[in-house]
Amino acid sequence: MLICSFLNPDGPRPGIVEGDDLYVLEGSMFDQQARRGDKIGLASQARLLPPVMPGKIICLGLNYADHAREQDTGVPPEPLIFLKPPSAVIGPDQTIELLPDMGKVEHETELGVVIGRQGRMIPQEEALKYVLGYTCGNDVSARDYQFKDGQWARAKSFDTFCPLGPWINTDLDPSDLAITCRVNGETRQDSRTSQMIFGVPFLIEYISRVMTLLPGDVILTGTPAGVSPIQPGDVVEVEVEGVGVLRNPVSMRVE
Ligand code: ZN
Repeated sequence: MLICSFLNPDGPRPGIVEGDDLYVLEGSMFDQQARRGDKIGLASQARLLPPVMPGKIICLGLNYADHAREQDTGVPPEPLIFLKPPSAVIGPDQTIELLPDMGKVEHETELGVVIGRQGRMIPQEEALKYVLGYTCGNDVSARDYQFKDGQWARAKSFDTFCPLGPWINTDLDPSDLAITCRVNGETRQDSRTSQMIFGVPFLIEYISRVMTLLPGDVILTGTPAGVSPIQPGDVVEVEVEGVGVLRNPVSMRVE
């Protein structure tokens, strides 16, 4: 099932996408009883919103060996986690906004894991039962600030620096999916999730020993090699096999 969120005249609504048909999702997307309601229209003509508004976004640094090499750091002996704030989230086709003094800003294509039920101390054998589904994420990063600050909070947290979408696929095996990024149609990142150093079940066990995972929380599982700068006027497309394409234009914010 593909779960989205879309803007209805009466406000944001969860939906179900089948082909290009968009249906209302009756009930909560986190409820097993959730079901398909009335047909609303065509998904391609709907104004899609972020498929979920996470309470927290837990991110992995350097979880692909090839990306660790290109950043000139070693492979971490255990997962390196950091947070992005929910206020950074935008949906499909929304604009990634740069500021004039920001320096180098880069895209990071990532597999997003959407948590479906609350859990703490989750063993990896049980981990996938806590997952609602998978989406595409772009961990936009202001690289100059990242290296200057040491702490990554500023570099990763600007408004619009966490595109998510276009929807959540609830029937997907995350272990070996093609993951790519294109800028203006040109491929910049091209890898597979099987290249992750720490896989999804291990990450859920590791993170849930630190913090309770709640429905709607999103884990961004790290990016492969090929990160590159983005400029105003660019269009960034992040694609995960089995999910779809998350497309976002880039512009300079006029203050
Ligand atoms: Zn990242």
